[in-house]
Amino acid sequence: MGSALAYWLTRLDPRICVVVIERDPTYATASSALSAASIRQQFTTPVNIRISQASIEFLRQADELLEVEGSGPDIRLREHGYLYLARASGTASLQRAHAIQSELGAHVALLSAAELKARFPWLKTTDLVVGSLGLNGEGWFDAYSLLTAFAAKARSQGVRYIRGEVREMDIQEGRIDSIHLQDGTRVTANFIVNAAGPWARAVARLAGLDLPVAARRRTVYVISCPTRMDPFPLLVDPSGFWIRPEGHLYIAGMAPGDDPDDAPLDPDYEAFDSVLWPALADRIPAFEAARLERAWAGYYEMNVFDHNGIVGFHPQVGNLLLMNGFSGHGLQQAPVVGRGVAELICHGRFVTLDLSELSYDRIRSGRPLLELNVI
Ligand SMILES: Cc1cc2nc3c(=O)[nH]c(=O)nc-3n(C[C@H](O)[C@H](O)[C@H](O)COP(=O)(O)OP(=O)(O)OC[C@H]3O[C@@H](n4cnc5c(N)ncnc54)[C@H](O)[C@@H]3O)c2cc1C
Repeated sequence: MGSALAYWLTRLDPRICVVVIERDPTYATASSALSAASIRQQFTTPVNIRISQASIEFLRQADELLEVEGSGPDIRLREHGYLYLARASGTASLQRAHAIQSELGAHVALLSAAELKARFPWLKTTDLVVGSLGLNGEGWFDAYSLLTAFAAKARSQGVRYIRGEVREMDIQEGRIDSIHLQDGTRVTANFIVNAAGPWARAVARLAGLDLPVAARRRTVYVISCPTRMDPFPLLVDPSGFWIRPEGHLYIAGMAPGDDPDDAPLDPDYEAFDSVLWPALADRIPAFEAARLERAWAGYYEMNVFDHNGIVGFHPQVGNLLLMNGFSGHGLQQAPVVGRGVAELICHGRFVTLDLSELSYDRIRSGRPLLELNVI
């Protein structure tokens, strides 16, 4: 988010002075580096669908847009779709979501169990009623390539990266006057943007604010399977797991039953044996012969209020902007949210896509904008 914003700010106004403060330039624990890096149109909140429509356009052109000195990044975008599956109990909500998505022009097909079986013969469909398959604009890409490409392009446009941890903020008359890093450096700016991912709540606290954003651990399992299955979209099972191909392997995950804040970033191996593998083998019988190769864990920056991003000015601290709480769909939204926040700073309003529904106001007034499709 921070580097996407820095890129857009300096693209919209080459004279603007932008500094990105990052405590760990290796991004070892950053969500962006640990992401499953997939993009979908299949949301239930219209603004999320509009963001994805614009984001996929950006990702398709990333090699040109983020080119530095004649060399563009290869973010390895693969548009193989998402497939949401539903049993009888989930059919009505899948159909409702499909209606919202279709109305907004997303290319999503509802398939019967028989159609699913014909298209994906490796899938167990006996308990299914319907599946919702994205026909284009959905798939996956390389998270680290996108992250480093945004940062490299931002640098090439004059953005300065400072290594340091933000520890304090001075508030004067409802504005952040300066921020202080752990090494004593003091930074002043007209605008300060909180792009601290799963640590957004801690950073907001430095300005005396509370944000409903929790760091929730999610494990990604890397699995091999002797049987090749093709085509294979990102599959979202009614039992709660997701799986997609990654090269000649697969990656998969699920929301844990018990979901504490700030759990250590150790993968939950036990859950693979006890929950994920049985569910996988039940849905895709070839996975009975699957093997867990490795696993990693990262934090979702979960907006516990309504599972949607919180974007724009904070109403109480005049020069503070937020890009937080994306709840597992922030990587795909970064190109468009970065552009939107840059527009707010440069033009005082959203210009290309109105993101005002994602403003903090809804939290202040207790009106959630609930996203139902959180994986
Ligand atoms: C396992 C997993 C799977 C995911 N799958 C997807 C997916 O398929 N599609 C999708 O779109 N999204 C996905 N997400 C979510 C997505 O990765 C995040 O929404 C997105 O990366 C958030 O980006 P960010 O820049 O806000 O946060 P981050 O990438 O975490 O960056 C925040 C940065 O702030 C720095 N920082 C924090 N506090 C301070 C401080 N005080 N001082 C200085 N620096 C600080 C951190 O070091 C960090 O580098 C997934 C996330 C995880 C963990």
